[in-house]
Amino acid sequence: MSLEGVYDEGNVFALILQGKIPSTRLYEDEHTYAFLDIQPQSKGHSLVISKWSKARNMLEIEDEALAQVMATVKKVAAATHKALDPDGIHIAQFNGAAAGQTVFHLHFHIVPRWAGGPAGFSAHAQGNFADPAALEALAEEIRAQF
Ligand code: AMP
Repeated sequence: MSLEGVYDEGNVFALILQGKIPSTRLYEDEHTYAFLDIQPQSKGHSLVISKWSKARNMLEIEDEALAQVMATVKKVAAATHKALDPDGIHIAQFNGAAAGQTVFHLHFHIVPRWAGGPAGFSAHAQGNFADPAALEALAEEIRAQF
């Protein structure tokens, strides 16, 4: 899908927000939702989305929704730092299929990074699918740090 187009109400993140498919919640407030990625690039890889914006990408998002999402990105990054003690955290966001975007509801990736060690790192969309029980256990650790 290109940068131009129409928001698809059936996209996977819309279905998560509607409660039609499960997700591993980390944090939510009135305007935003954060959850663990099912195909993590590293241990603790999470995503933050707006609950109300129909923006597919950065070119479409309302300033208000972007500010709300970024405030949650900061909170989730801080909780992830406290819970998992990574050496770094990269924050990423892709616009359009040509840039690597696969889900067309604007989202930010929060990816903990370690200089070495067991957590590993996979490139975008190259990670293995995570075990849902392991994701839930990890989410509990991160949720405890908000
Ligand atoms: P992007 O390629 O930037 O559009 O990122 C989409 C991300 O959503 C990828 O990292 C996927 O692993 C992740 N993803 C897709 N479906 C789900 C899902 N049901 N629950 C959690 N993460 C998902």
